[in-house]
Amino acid sequence: MSKQRVLSGVQPTGNLHLGNYLGAIRNWVDLQHEYDNFFCVVDLHAITVPHDPKKLAHDTYNIAALYLACGIDLQYSTIFVQSHVSAHSELTWLLNCITPLNWLERMIQFKEKAKKQGENVGVGLLDYPVLMAADILLYDADKVPVGEDQKQHLELTRDIAARINDQFGSPTQPVLKVPEPLIRKEGARVMSLTDGTSKMSKSDPSDMSRINLLDPPELIEKKIKRCKTDPVRGLTFDDPERPECNNLLNLYAILSGKTKEEVATECGDLGWGQFKPLLTEAVINSLSPIQEKYTEIINDRGYLDSVLREGRHKANLVAHQTLTRVKEALGFLLVL
Ligand code: ATP
Ligand code: MG
Repeated sequence: MSKQRVLSGVQPTGNLHLGNYLGAIRNWVDLQHEYDNFFCVVDLHAITVPHDPKKLAHDTYNIAALYLACGIDLQYSTIFVQSHVSAHSELTWLLNCITPLNWLERMIQFKEKAKKQGENVGVGLLDYPVLMAADILLYDADKVPVGEDQKQHLELTRDIAARINDQFGSPTQPVLKVPEPLIRKEGARVMSLTDGTSKMSKSDPSDMSRINLLDPPELIEKKIKRCKTDPVRGLTFDDPERPECNNLLNLYAILSGKTKEEVATECGDLGWGQFKPLLTEAVINSLSPIQEKYTEIINDRGYLDSVLREGRHKANLVAHQTLTRVKEALGFLLVL
């Protein structure tokens, strides 16, 4: 039996942070042997918010290098850049035409990011989830490993696929495969260092709100020293009044490889001054092998280019087949 397909991606909107790693990439790496994987750098998504054209290509390169540095193995996985496969844009248009506007207006990410953009919010931001649906559906993905913040977009992808199948397929011959989300509980929602109630994000204007995978040890130490805490003595998980405490303990548990129970016992009586150096050490130890590998990869442009060229070729083959299938189902004239 052939392996099931996995697809996921990250936007080149800045540096990868611990949330991206623990919510998404670490899970890609752990599961890759079981699946046939496509991991893309979703650069078309990155321009749904105002972007700097001088930085886009650099950030795209950077994220592709970090995928490899985090342990994505080309024996099991294909790495490519979304804009190198034009079928993503083309399928988005076809899906746009069957997606009701009010499905998109309800999306939480749209509402949150639109608020930040003010009055002249771009159509692309509203359309973001349709592009994401196209990314996933083009590869007939069975599973989509993402953080919890993307759950609503995945449900929308399933709804769009079901609608196409209803309107243009038949129960025995669906046009598109309906994918399943794959959200691992631990690390699914890493919160900001400066506000335990909002998620860690690349697009947060404050760099102090996140730990980037490429932050040097001194900066990690500084960010953890300054991060938001509370005046309560003793450290506990799952207290809704203490979101920062819960977030930092969870980070410590995942990065040190200890269970929640072990961490609760170890840290129950600690003050912040005693806990913060423990967390700092766990973060630095987890990130230093990734940073070393990243330096090797980013200094070998020829290699990275060849990875992305090969990825573009493999992704195009699969994506084009699906696009043709959808065009056929929608009744387009296809001339060979
Ligand atoms: P942006 O702020 O530009 O939207 P982002 O930090 O949200 O950037 P994305 O590129 O949108 O990152 O998301 C990439 C992957 O990382 C997705 O699977 C997403 O669910 C996951 N992810 C993002 N932030 C977190 C977080 N704080 N905790 C866990 N997973 C996260
Ligand atoms: Mg995001």
